[in-house]
Formats: sequence, C-alpha cells, structure tokens
Amino acid sequence: MSAAIVAQVIREEIAALSAYHVQDAAGYIKLDAMENPFALPAGLRQGLADHLASAAINRYPDPAAADLKAALRRAMNVPANLDILLGNGSDEIIQMLAMACSKPRAKLLSVEPAFVMFKMIATFCAMDYVGVPLKLADFSLDETAMLAAIEKHQPALTFLAYPNNPTGNLFDPAVIRNIIRASPGLVVIDEAYFAFSSGSFLSEIDQYPNAVLMRTVSKLGLAGARLGMLIGASNWLSQIDKVRLPYNINSFTQSAATYLLDHADEFTRQTTVLVAERMLMAERLAALFARHPGAAQFPSEANFILMRVPNAAHVFAELKARKILVKNTSQSHALLHDTLRITIGLPDENSAFLAALTDILEPRHA
Ligand code: PMP
Repeated sequence: MSAAIVAQVIREEIAALSAYHVQDAAGYIKLDAMENPFALPAGLRQGLADHLASAAINRYPDPAAADLKAALRRAMNVPANLDILLGNGSDEIIQMLAMACSKPRAKLLSVEPAFVMFKMIATFCAMDYVGVPLKLADFSLDETAMLAAIEKHQPALTFLAYPNNPTGNLFDPAVIRNIIRASPGLVVIDEAYFAFSSGSFLSEIDQYPNAVLMRTVSKLGLAGARLGMLIGASNWLSQIDKVRLPYNINSFTQSAATYLLDHADEFTRQTTVLVAERMLMAERLAALFARHPGAAQFPSEANFILMRVPNAAHVFAELKARKILVKNTSQSHALLHDTLRITIGLPDENSAFLAALTDILEPRHA
C-alpha cells in the first residue's frame, strides 16, 4: 500500500537512481577511496584536541567561517582578488552550483568517465546531464566532441576535474582554455587532487569571466572533516552563496581545519611521500605488466592509479580475499571495462597490494 504512495510521490528520476555505494572496509587494507592513509602525528593530535576543546559547541558556528577561510587562503595561496565559498565537502558545492543554475531544461555537461556525483547531482537538481566520452586511447579530452556538445547543448554548468577521477590524468590545459572560452555558462575546474598534481589553474582562473575553481581538503588528509571550497570572483560566489544552508560548516570542522591548515607542512610532507609512492607503484606495475600484455596502467597525477587487468572482477575478488580493498571501476562506464582503481596507501600497504596482484596474475610465482 505505502509502496504505491511512495511511487506516486517520489520523482521518477530519483526512484530510478541507485544510491551511492560505499564498500564496507572493516578489516581490509583500504585502497578504495583516495584517502590519505597517514594518521595524524601524536603532537598534532594533542594540539587538535586542545584546540577543539575550546570550540563553543553551545553556539551556532560562524556562518561566514572567517578564520577557516583565512587559513585556507594562507595554506593554498588563494589570490587576494578571489573569494572563497565553503561546502560540506566539495560534493555540497557541486550541489549548490547545480541548485543555483537549475533553470528549466538547463544542462550540466561533463566528460565520461568522470566523478559520478556530477551526473547524480544533475539528476537531484533536475538538470539535464550531458556526458561527452573521453578519447578511448588515453582518456584525453575529445576537443572536437566537447566543442560540438557545448555548441549544441549550451550548458549552464560544465565540470572538468583536473586531474580527472577515475582516470588520474591531467587534461591538456590548452583544450580546457578553449572549452572555457567556448562555453556560454560557468566552467568549474575541480582540483580535488591538486595536492598530488603538477598542474593547476589557480593562478589563471581569474582571467576568465566564466570559470571557477573547486578544491577539497579530503584527499589532503581531512576527509573526515567534510570540507570543500570554491574559489572565484565574488559576482559568481555571492550568488551561489544564497543557496548555501547558513551553518553548513560545523564548529568542529571549522575549528579542526583551521588548526590543522596552520600546520599544513605535515600534510605537505605526507603528500610528498604519497607522490613518491605513486611513482614507485607505477614503476613496479610497469615491470609486472611487461609480462602481461593484457594489463596496462594509465598515467596518474593524483593519489590513485587506474589499471586494466584481464578479468578485473576476478582480480578484484582475489584481492578482497587477501583483505585488500580497491575500487572495481569496470562496470561504471564502457570505456572502463576491466579496470581497477587503486588508491596509493602507506608504503607497506602498497607493497602488500603489489605482492597480492603478482600472486593473482602469476599463481606459480608465490
Ligand atoms: N571531485 C572529485 C573529482 C572527486 O573525486 C571527489 C571525491 N571522490 C570529490 C570531488 C568530492 O570530494 P569531497 O566531497 O570529499 O570534498
């Protein structure tokens, strides 16, 4: 009986969605979610506890999060002429952008494969989603197809992750610039993985009247804090800010992130290790895959590596049986058949993953 009422009331496109799936990771080496694997050093933990103890939890948080914005500005060298808007994770910023731009039949454009929330949130906010496939060979931008889609669909919002998730590559900046120039709407450069990347649009974003830059502290080491930021001109951000719920960044996150960002050298140290580990992983995979013509890895500028292996579902299950959790991306897009995405973990975890993968691909090796 209630099923009929549910079906009648819930929007059809919501009923058709599958909920965002998070794997149960208890007891596993967790290489599935692009988290920073390092725990906070003891000194910082104590400092954080002392700092949090003084948070005025009886009061609503600072709605403008002024101290936190100042700390982010310092830690990321945000140009003085640009504003900052904060979200409960960059997920929430994507949602705010879509809410603010969701005119009837407005389009949200991205590439495929991309971060799945671009498409999900387009649906949540009743925007029409347009996905332009990346090039098959190397997941680079198909400039011709992108410019044609922009011309045809006149998107209100375009999302490009730089580096891209789940492929890990940096798109050609010259093509991104052409996309920004050709776009009638707002282009969001999503730099969720900036900490691991050799490229950034931060220093040039103010040159475009229709581009903003999004970042998150999640991959840096603060995934549990849920904090993302949009960096851009005040004429854009002041409009988006109107759909932000007044106290979206809670007091604990404001307090913790402000304190920790003022000790950002620790995160720089950790991300430096992770980049070195990523390079080492790429070298070791190259050596392993040289013996397996069906396997390949894709160049990464992020804290993960996408790889193609024969029978990825089998490899995924065998890794899981060895208590190693990665992301099986095989089903998420046709271009991703037989792919796994591996987050770079602690040195020991990366070695354990490689030993397990070698064991799976070369059973007699063990
Ligand atoms: N953008 C990209 C490209 C991502 O991969 C992710 C997380 N996987 C996000 C945004 C969202 O990050 P968060 O909500 O943790 O800030």
